[in-house]
Amino acid sequence: MKKKKYNKFALLSIIVLLASLVVEVPTSLAYVKNGSKWSNPTSLQYYVDSSTLYAGNEHYATWGATAWNSATEVEVSRTYSSSDNGRLTTIVTSTTDLGAYYAEAFRYNSSGSRCVQPTICTVVRGKIVINNVDFKKLSSTGVRRHETMTHEMGHILGLGHEDSSGVFSIMLSGGAGFIDRKSPTTDDFKGISAVY
Ligand SMILES: [Zn+2]
Repeated sequence: MKKKKYNKFALLSIIVLLASLVVEVPTSLAYVKNGSKWSNPTSLQYYVDSSTLYAGNEHYATWGATAWNSATEVEVSRTYSSSDNGRLTTIVTSTTDLGAYYAEAFRYNSSGSRCVQPTICTVVRGKIVINNVDFKKLSSTGVRRHETMTHEMGHILGLGHEDSSGVFSIMLSGGAGFIDRKSPTTDDFKGISAVY
């Protein structure tokens, strides 16, 4: 009798513990800020360079550049002028193999220096470089080309890599792979809210 009662209590404790773990995992926030921030996030622009048009990457460039617009904090629209105006991100495509990555994002401050995580930096210019040799290896019928561009735009807007286990984020580092989704996740959008 005593023993049975003890077991019931232990079982109840385990159930309570497991329940608390189950409840905590989906609500955990783990976005990572990269230190960069635009001063005019709701009037940002992107420019699709001719190299990106020639490579057939216009659709992916446009998708990624505007993929974060459902966040109230940011708005990115297309411009057909390449002039530097303090709010522009240019999307270029390299046909020379740049290394083992699909694309890379660069952010610059008003002195022309590159913003490097985690240094706090006010961004006035962005650049996304598509490494076409590797980018073309991603299936054109799947979502990974879109996911790559959305991920790079996340860097431009101020997010770093998020590799915590159990967190569903488009900001996974390249080595961690893909989540096979075109758009940012709840955690990603909470990251944008935290930056702006
Ligand atoms: Zn990345």
